[in-house]
Amino acid sequence: MIIHCPECKKDVSSLAIKCPHCGYPYPYQKSPEVKEIFQKKRKEFQRRKKKCPRCDYADNFPHIYTDHPEDHYALEGRLYFTVFYECQKCKHVYSEEVFLD
Ligand SMILES: [Zn+2]
Ligand SMILES: [Zn+2]
Repeated sequence: MIIHCPECKKDVSSLAIKCPHCGYPYPYQKSPEVKEIFQKKRKEFQRRKKKCPRCDYADNFPHIYTDHPEDHYALEGRLYFTVFYECQKCKHVYSEEVFLD
């Protein structure tokens, strides 16, 4: 995904470790575009229940710990954050990667 560098406002890849134009480090961390997508995804996933892979109990809501774009990581060329679930029945903890694109 193409974002705008928070410093020089030029186009830069959301995965760049620095802006190719001005050298600003990790432009996505301070990018309003990335933050907006993150907040949208966060809201969407807050209400999503996921079945426990161990006991099949289906009524588990996620815990989303990350609230900062600094906590987004790049995996196979995509930005993501991790959503954690704890099963209310068997206490098994499991997680899911949520991609921003
Ligand atoms: Zn820049
Ligand atoms: Zn369970």
